Amino acid sequence: MRQKLAKFMYGRNGSDELSKLLSIVAVILLIISMYCGTAVRSTLFLVAVSAIIYTYFRVFSKNTAARRRENAKYLEQKRRVKSRFRLRRDMWKQRKEYKFFKCPSCGATLRVPKGKGRIRIVCKKCGTAFEKKT
Ligand SMILES: [Zn+2]
Repeated sequence: MRQKLAKFMYGRNGSDELSKLLSIVAVILLIISMYCGTAVRSTLFLVAVSAIIYTYFRVFSKNTAARRRENAKYLEQKRRVKSRFRLRRDMWKQRKEYKFFKCPSCGATLRVPKGKGRIRIVCKKCGTAFEKKT
């Protein structure tokens, strides 16, 4: 039985981070749908079933290159969201000692010590200089 499954899964994508997320989202949608009215319930149910079908399609897919690209895209997106949250958390923690500015040229977040008056800030990323009161 185990060997049969291994043979069946050979050359297939299998489970990855994206399929794990999709199946979790599907289960959450199914649970939410139980507490909704008929119209919303059927829509949520349809979306959840679609997510499950798509998850199985991805797990059993033999086009591993395409599935890997999708997964990599998802992981990159996840990393971005995580780092944005980390930045916000750090900004909040350091709000008493530092002031944060966005670079007018590249949009990078720059940290400068508070209470230094009007200073010239040079972006570490692109080298743009601008003046701000801290
Ligand atoms: Zn910049």
